[in-house]
Amino acid sequence: MLASAFMVGPAREATKGATRDSLRRHNLATVLRRVHRGGPQSRSALTAATGLNRSTIGALVAELVECGLVEEGEPEATGSAGRPSPLVRASTDHVVAAAVDIGTKWLTVAIGGIGGTLVTRVHRETNNDGRPYEETIAELCDLLDEVVGDLLPTQHLFAVGIAAPGVVRAHDGFVHFAPNLGWREVNLGADLAAHLGDDIVVFVANEAHLGARAEHLRGAGAGVEDLIYLSSEIGVGGGTIIAGRLQLGADGYSGEIGHIPVNTGPDATSCRCGSVGCLEAETGALALLALTGHQHTDHLSDAVRGIIATAAAGDEDVQRSLHEIGVRLGRGLAGMVNLLNPRRIVLGGYFADAFEFLAAGIDAELAQHTLSPSRSGVTIVPAALQEDSALLGALEIALEPLLLDPARSPAAAA
Ligand SMILES: [Zn+2]
Repeated sequence: MLASAFMVGPAREATKGATRDSLRRHNLATVLRRVHRGGPQSRSALTAATGLNRSTIGALVAELVECGLVEEGEPEATGSAGRPSPLVRASTDHVVAAAVDIGTKWLTVAIGGIGGTLVTRVHRETNNDGRPYEETIAELCDLLDEVVGDLLPTQHLFAVGIAAPGVVRAHDGFVHFAPNLGWREVNLGADLAAHLGDDIVVFVANEAHLGARAEHLRGAGAGVEDLIYLSSEIGVGGGTIIAGRLQLGADGYSGEIGHIPVNTGPDATSCRCGSVGCLEAETGALALLALTGHQHTDHLSDAVRGIIATAAAGDEDVQRSLHEIGVRLGRGLAGMVNLLNPRRIVLGGYFADAFEFLAAGIDAELAQHTLSPSRSGVTIVPAALQEDSALLGALEIALEPLLLDPARSPAAAA
């Protein structure tokens, strides 16, 4: 079953006319979201945080346990008189979701659940760059079948969230264009939904949008309401969060910072999008290989790691190349800072690994090309979730229907 990648949420506020059932479901969702985002907490902490009374929280937690979404553990010692309060924590024993990351050079499928933890994963290095779409999808379906086949008999797969490095239509997971996979106009969401069957909800979204969401929720952007996230591999993707909400644009195509022109000179590099001098072509992993005199390789991640290690070992030529990448990156980011006034910019992918060598170049360009009030209010940091940003974002969209309405749990229906 195919669904829109970004649900409208959070759950509606209960109004005067709301039925008891809708009020109960709203409260269930409130409690589940607190445990999902805040980690294990006592019933008394949930009571204090939600303003609901103790017996209501007790009944809601019992229902969430029945839905297979949380479990209750040993009570916390309170150090004060009265009964100790049981600890409520997320459970992946009954309801799980799959998160998929389709990279240019890899396929990863992981299983996770409420609480945002990935409990198992299968990672395969494969060259998807220019490979026929049908072959990549067939291999991905095999990996999904393998992971699903390894689920415990008690575990229900609820949904699959897919991170794709391309221009993804938000409402149905249709991929218009994924230049670094060679995909054009492919029906990724519908094809995977057909393979998985009617009981499993499928969501597809742009990998940088998902990375932004995960870093905002659990990573280097936690607690920040206005941020820009950049991913970097061969491609450079972007996701923008304003006032705490991911910005999709009219159809879901926003955030393509990788195709902002940063070099209009005669030495501009051709971009796979058909343009020249795009940020992606000038700062992506292939630009780094070119600047440091390396050939394109199927083992791109290893090559990039090797280059960064050489810089860390003190090679000044490689450090200068990385500085140049930082300068180009700063030029692209300057426009974003002027336009959006972000509080934080989170750099993912290889930009995170090479951060110490990029930072001075970025700073210099921002100092030159941004208005000082916006510049002084923004900090630039490496991503905290490393290669899991997109995967954790994919898990998050897969869990969204449950977080909005926990009574939809397949364990509740079982
Ligand atoms: Zn481009």
